Parts: sequence; structure tokens; C-alpha cells
Amino acid sequence: MSKVRTNSVQSIIGVILQNMPSDAAITKIEYEGPMIAIYTKNPRYLLENNAIISGIVKSIKKRIVVRTDESIRKSEEDARKIIMRMMPKEVGIVGTFFDTALGEVTVEVKKPWILTQIEEGEEDEEVDDRERDEASSEVGIPDTGVGAHAQTQAHMQKQKQIQALIIDLIDSTGWKVRIRKASHITSESMKQVNYAKKLFANERYRLLRSVGESIFRPRLFESTEATLMTLGGFSEVGRSCMLLMTRESKILLDCGINPGASDPINAFPRLDILGFDLEELDAIVISHAHLDHTGFLPLLFKHGYRGPVYCTDPTLPLMTLIQMDMIKVAAGEGELPLYTERDVREVIKHTITLPYKTVTDIAPDIKLVFSNAGHILGSATVHLHIGNGDHNIVYTGDLKYGRSQLFDSASWNYPRVETLIIESTYGAKEDVMPSREEVESNFVSSINKVLMEGGKVLIPVPAVGRAQEILMVIDHHMKAGNMVEAPVFIEGMISEASAIHVAHPEYLTRELRQRILEVDDNPFTSEYFTTVEHSSQREEALREGPTIIMATSGMLEGGPVIEYFKGIAKDPRNKILFVSYQVNGTLGRRVLDGSRQVSLMSRDGKIEVIDIMAQVEKIEGFSGHSDYNQLMAYVNKLKPKLRRVIVNHGERRKVENLASSIYRIFKVPAAAPMVREAIRLY
Ligand SMILES: [Zn+2]
Repeated sequence: MSKVRTNSVQSIIGVILQNMPSDAAITKIEYEGPMIAIYTKNPRYLLENNAIISGIVKSIKKRIVVRTDESIRKSEEDARKIIMRMMPKEVGIVGTFFDTALGEVTVEVKKPWILTQIEEGEEDEEVDDRERDEASSEVGIPDTGVGAHAQTQAHMQKQKQIQALIIDLIDSTGWKVRIRKASHITSESMKQVNYAKKLFANERYRLLRSVGESIFRPRLFESTEATLMTLGGFSEVGRSCMLLMTRESKILLDCGINPGASDPINAFPRLDILGFDLEELDAIVISHAHLDHTGFLPLLFKHGYRGPVYCTDPTLPLMTLIQMDMIKVAAGEGELPLYTERDVREVIKHTITLPYKTVTDIAPDIKLVFSNAGHILGSATVHLHIGNGDHNIVYTGDLKYGRSQLFDSASWNYPRVETLIIESTYGAKEDVMPSREEVESNFVSSINKVLMEGGKVLIPVPAVGRAQEILMVIDHHMKAGNMVEAPVFIEGMISEASAIHVAHPEYLTRELRQRILEVDDNPFTSEYFTTVEHSSQREEALREGPTIIMATSGMLEGGPVIEYFKGIAKDPRNKILFVSYQVNGTLGRRVLDGSRQVSLMSRDGKIEVIDIMAQVEKIEGFSGHSDYNQLMAYVNKLKPKLRRVIVNHGERRKVENLASSIYRIFKVPAAAPMVREAIRLY
């Protein structure tokens, strides 16, 4: 066996060396997770002659990344000085982060538009042509980010100049240079991610090599057989988790908890039924950052998983934010948290981020492509090619097939898809949302009624996704004069998530991206907004007079919203306004279903009874999920390719309805499995 392995690595190295002129000054060729890293003492040569790398990528069908040899890297201090000297002053450098495991430096700048189009070396990654076609045929798919407007001659000229600047920077510092837009406030979660990356740099370097060894181990079977085991989030919402097994590999898709369940058997994915060790897993793939998709992940590391986690770039800080918050919320309620910060840092250490639309090997017989799911920042549909691409599985994760203020509609144009796993949060026939205009006008008039009477509006929101959408809607309508002007108080975690949005504009709609990157019109820093940093400021928000308050958690399950809830609930002039899905069993759901009295456990363990005199309302249609019609329209788009559909992520009745509608209308077999089923896919 080991002989075969050596041969396969050697054949890759052979092809690379054969095609490499001696000017390239190659020092070593190694695995770096799913990529092949080519180290050079002469990065300028390979960057200026990028056709060499493209040629090799075509022939070996693997992603390649060019790395600088350690011997040419200047000290961080010297490199920083060089960058400060060489970059135009007006660009406003806010900070630099040196990732020593990769030899990469990220430069955060205030005004990236001064440098428009700064990405370099994109050709060095394998991109399936068919996937690429998809990218260009759909309007608004994020491209490289900065300066994605029409390719005028002047623009091309400018791009060339910037390309040259980047190459000069790499040449002078010996570090790969990346430019990123600095947020209006520093994101603590992004700092935590960087801290862990720095702390574990040596370990990460070694880890990436061993992950590569495992991915490119020789294949033993030429089979497209696959089995799906449902571990959570089937015929229910919460604890999304499933295992995909081929004869060759085992991949876990999502790993969440159910925030509405208290007993472990219903709150956590049923990994106990697997009958094998976590070490046997090849990879964990995360569709998006929400708790019901990532909340259990640190526990896997606590229990000994040491393999890779794949997600998109913004998903990493967002899930770190959500996981760290879960620890805080548990501590605040006097409960023992499920895991510690150490476990969350293990997740960061093992995470490999991938951009949308890039084909990546994650196991000997499985390739992965993420595409925009339209649900929250960085949310992805997961496209898995099994075997030689003969069996293609698309898992939608949470899906918004429709445009929102923040994101483009979900991608659908997959070259092939035989098996579709689709969510059905709104899978019932009656789950049809009003038009976007109607939704916003309902929202505005609902808030106006309360503010004009001098009341307060409390909007419980999940920190990530809906919160940013609602902020933009409020800002827009107050500015336009449609909504009564009033102070908007936002709890810190929401502002933190907004900062992560600003740092990843390439994942937002083209319009927003341009506002942030090209005209410095950051919609998250409106003059109406006040961020509540300390609990003492909460009193200010609750003082007499009309205000809007936005706080987490979105389902009234702990978090600062509870403090506001207590203050708001007793006055009939006030309103509790829900804008997101309320899971069964949560306090939010009970309030929404009409409870007029609820009991809460206070910090010192006493039971507190709260009478709800305030108005309660839910505005439908802001959801980051597709409604029934959008789900059906999505399946309709894929219909010609499909052999089977598996429906998940919905209450039993909704899942069953969507599955039967799909079968009845499209004549595609559709299943609505429960948790703990094994489904043969091929
Ligand atoms: Zn979600």
C-alpha cells in the first residue's frame, strides 16, 4: 500500500517538476490540506508567468497554491514596514495579520477602492469549467470581490497596476499578500480566529500535510455507492446532522443542536448510533454558521475528532461567535457549558475555508463545491461529486431561493445532480410569503403604530442574518421618511456580526458590495443606531419614550433579549415583534402562540413570573428561508437532472407535504425520513 501512495505523490511531483523551468526556483512541493503547495524562492517568476501553473492544474486536476519559501520571508516587523512604505498612504492600513502556517499576510485597509481589484493568483486553483459557466451565467454571483464592475480599458489598466503592486509586495516581503476591507468596528470573533491561527501555526502546518496525505490516499474501490444516515434535523428543525458513507470514505454534513429541546436524546445529533470512532471520519462539511448546524461541532473535538472541517471564509468567524456565545449564555444561566473555549479553538485550528465555486478534493472519492445558498453570510449549498463524478449530491443547507437586501438568490445551476437533499422549514402549502414590498410595508406600519403611541418595539433576532437584514430595512425606511424616526438600540453581538459582514463584502449582493467597497457607504453604521456594549446601557434603552430594541436570542432562549423582554412585556403600549422562525418548545414560540404568562428562571435560581400585557406580532416574509413556492421552484429548476429528493429540516407535517408535492407534481421520488434512518443513495 505505502508503495502505491509514494508513487501517486511522486507522479504529481513528477508532472510539476517536468513543467517547471529552473527560474521558478522550486524548493519543495507538499500537500496543504486539499491543495498542492509549491514553494518557491522566486515567487515573482511564477506570478508573472501564471500560465505555467494553469497548465499544471489542467494536467493533474488538483488545486495548486504558490507559497514563498520560508528562507525568503522577512521578519514580520520588517515585512510590515515594507508594506506601509510601498502601499499608497490614502488606502489607510488599519492592521496586518501574518499567518505563519501559510506564509500569508492579510492587510486590512480602510479604503480598498483606491486599489480596486487586488486578488492575485486565482488561476492557481482548479475550477471546473462547468461550474465556472454557472458563475457567469447567474446574475450577481460573488466574483473576486473588490471592483467587480465593467471591464473598461481604464479599469483593466488599473488592475494591471495593482497586480504589479501586489507582486512587488510579495517579492519585497517574501510573504503572500492579501488585502481585506477593514470593518467600522474590530470584530472580536475575527480576532479570536486569528489568535488561534497564530497560536497553533506549527500544528496547523503539520495538520494540513496529514490532511492532504489522507485525501490523496489511493482509492480502493471504483464505486459510486453511497449511504446517508440521518442523525438530526430530519422531520424536525434543529440539530442538523447527517453522515454520508461511501465504500471509501465518511463525511459528516453539519453538526448542530436543537435549541428547543432540553434532553440530550432530542437536543443533540444521534452520533451514538454510528458504531465507529470519530477518527474514522474523513471530514466535516458545514453549510452555514447557525447554531442548529454548528452548535455541536466543538463537542466532536472534545471527544477526540482531529480531522478537517470545511466551510466558507465568513462562516468561520460567524460560527466562532455563535459557539462562544453559547458558552456565555450557559454560564449566565448558571449552567455548565457543553464545551469550553479550548474546544472552540480546536475547531478553528482544524478548519479549512473554501470560496464558492471551487472544486476541492476532500476524500479519495469525493469532491466538494460550495455555492451561494442565499440564507445568511457565507451560507452554502454543498455539492458533492462521488466517484468519478457519476453520482452528484446537492445538500441545500438552509436555502433562500429569492433575493434579499443582503444576498443574491441561491445558486441552482449545478452541472449534475442526481440526489437532492432539501430543507423544508416552510414546506406546508400555506407557507406562502407575501411579496417583499408587502412585507416591508407591514413591518413599517406595525412599528409606526407603536412608536406613535409612545411605545417600544422589541425585536428578538438571531445575531446573524435577520438582524442585518432588519437593520438595513429600518435605516432605509427612516431615511425615506416612511418610518417614525426613533433611536434603535442594538445589542453588541448583533453589531459584532455586522462587522463580519462588512469584512466579507464579496459574499453580499453586488449593490451592497459596491456601497461598501467603492463608495464607502457602509449601511451598518447608520446614525439611528446605538450599540449597547454594557448591561448598564440597557436602562437607557428601556427609559420612557419610543424606541426600537434589537437583541438576541431570536427565540427568547436566553441572551440579553430576556432582560428587555421583562421590561417590555408589562406595558400594553409596547410590542414584541418577531421576524424569524420560532422553533417548537422555545419561549419565543410559546409567546407567539399566545401565552399571556410565562415563568423565567432568574440569575439567582428563582422563578420569575412575567405577565405579557404587550402586543405580540410576527411579520412573515423576512425569513432567510424559502417559502413553499420558492422551494418548489428550486426543485423545478433541478428536475431534469434529479433521480431522488430527500426532504429534511422541517416539522413532520411540512416535510411530508413537500415530499408528496414533489412526487405528485414533478414525478421525482421524494422521501421524508425520520432521524436514525439509513438511506441507500445508489
Ligand atoms: Zn440557518
